[in-house]
Amino acid sequence: MAQMQTLAASTDAVQRLVLAEIAEGVALLDARDPVFALLDINPAGRTLLAHHRPALVGQPWASAFDPADAPALLAILRRVVATGESYTAHAYPCRRAAGRGAVYRDWKCVPVRDDAGAVERLMVIFTDATEQPQRRSGRAAQLEAIIGGMLDGVVILDLCGRVLETNEAGRALLNLTPDSHEPLLGEALAALCPRYADGRIFEAGDLVTAVLAGQTIADEEFVLGEPDGSVDTNKRAVSLSAAPVRDTQGQASGAVILLRDITAQKRADREKDAILSLIAHEVKSPLTAIKGFAQLATRAAQRGATGERITRHLQVVDQQSERLGRLVGELSDVGRIQQGRLQQELVDFDLALLTHTLVEQQRVTLTSHRLRLTIADAPLIVHADPHRIEQVITNLLTNAVKYSPEASDVTVTLARQGDTAHLAVRDAGAGIPRTELPRLFGRFYRAADTAAGHPGGLGLGLFIAREIVTGSGGRLWAESEEGQGSTFHVVLPLTGASLDSGQRRH
Ligand code: ADP
Repeated sequence: MAQMQTLAASTDAVQRLVLAEIAEGVALLDARDPVFALLDINPAGRTLLAHHRPALVGQPWASAFDPADAPALLAILRRVVATGESYTAHAYPCRRAAGRGAVYRDWKCVPVRDDAGAVERLMVIFTDATEQPQRRSGRAAQLEAIIGGMLDGVVILDLCGRVLETNEAGRALLNLTPDSHEPLLGEALAALCPRYADGRIFEAGDLVTAVLAGQTIADEEFVLGEPDGSVDTNKRAVSLSAAPVRDTQGQASGAVILLRDITAQKRADREKDAILSLIAHEVKSPLTAIKGFAQLATRAAQRGATGERITRHLQVVDQQSERLGRLVGELSDVGRIQQGRLQQELVDFDLALLTHTLVEQQRVTLTSHRLRLTIADAPLIVHADPHRIEQVITNLLTNAVKYSPEASDVTVTLARQGDTAHLAVRDAGAGIPRTELPRLFGRFYRAADTAAGHPGGLGLGLFIAREIVTGSGGRLWAESEEGQGSTFHVVLPLTGASLDSGQRRH
């Protein structure tokens, strides 16, 4: 017996605890009282009715509401008592006595019977929906703002595959105008002639059907093709992800589609692939030469060939290793430039002396071209990294020789120009088309015809050279006319020492 009492007491405590914690209002009314006096009400109920317990308990239930609403309310309560059946209203507009209007959601009145089965009490359970639409619209507005600001296209579909909502990016990708009324996504996509990269048709309608049937799609890529079926890899590329949307009961209610414009990414991927195969090609040819000539030298030595012959083979090995070293050096320079870490040790040195020395060195080995040098003023003291400037001048001389016909002139001039030193390297080669000039100093740039017809390079020399020159406060640019040769100009600021010094002619 004592145990039963304890159990009853604890059940009561649990009940009270639950009633105290839940968000729903729960009120207990006296069903035998014609005005349905309030017997008890939980904290949420008091808050929802904007009343305090002492003022409300013992009072007629209708007194919590506006007198105008009382008759309808009493009619409902009487019906529950009379029929013994619960009453539920999903939205029950009712003004509170406290003044503010309210809409009670899921308003439920449940009869509570006594031991004899008669309705003794009424339990009224209700939640306040007044704030709900506002909260919901606040959340909807937030969501709308997020979706609207996304760079990806977001498309929300209904169960039939109609576009219910989409953001600016989605409209742009799907070519939808703001007044296109709930178009079918399948049709909107099909109008863009989407194709896989290998030319197969991208069946947009099938995809939408699959998603609406519950399938999730991740990163399906296609390009916007031409109606004739051709695929231009430079055209817009799109990645599509999709997921079905379910309502709170788990029922399919549509789908959300994410469309991402991946054109730039695809282009960058293609460029990267091209660069990798260019690097592989450029590295492979000196390696092959090194291996071949090293084998020749070994075999020649084994057969007791002359030292002269072996030396010739080894000279090729030496030249090709140097070429390989240059390629690797250029690649690591580009890496450093990209990370902003191309270090230069800036010191004062005479550009006239350096230029003179470099040209003389080139003259010794260069027999294919006539190398002419004019230094108008000396010394020309600049503040830069002499090893790096040597790299620049060597690159310009090498290019002038590489891209001009044998026996033609390569002219180097150096002169003071105001408070700068002006170096120009001119060749009589095929020149560079005017339209190509803006790209000349870009990474991995190689003019199509020169790339085909000359012992290659990676197209990095000029990119690195410009970084070096601008790093010393100078400028590097090219002037060229097709068929008229090219002139590359380097301008470096002179230091005070040079500006004060006298001038002499070479
Ligand atoms: P590369 O190692 O390919 O020579 P560069 O950056 O030095 O790399 O040159 C880039 C491209 O610019 C070359 O591939 C060539 O197409 C063009 N170019 C450079 N110098 C000249 C020149 N003097 N005459 C004609 N074209 C040139």
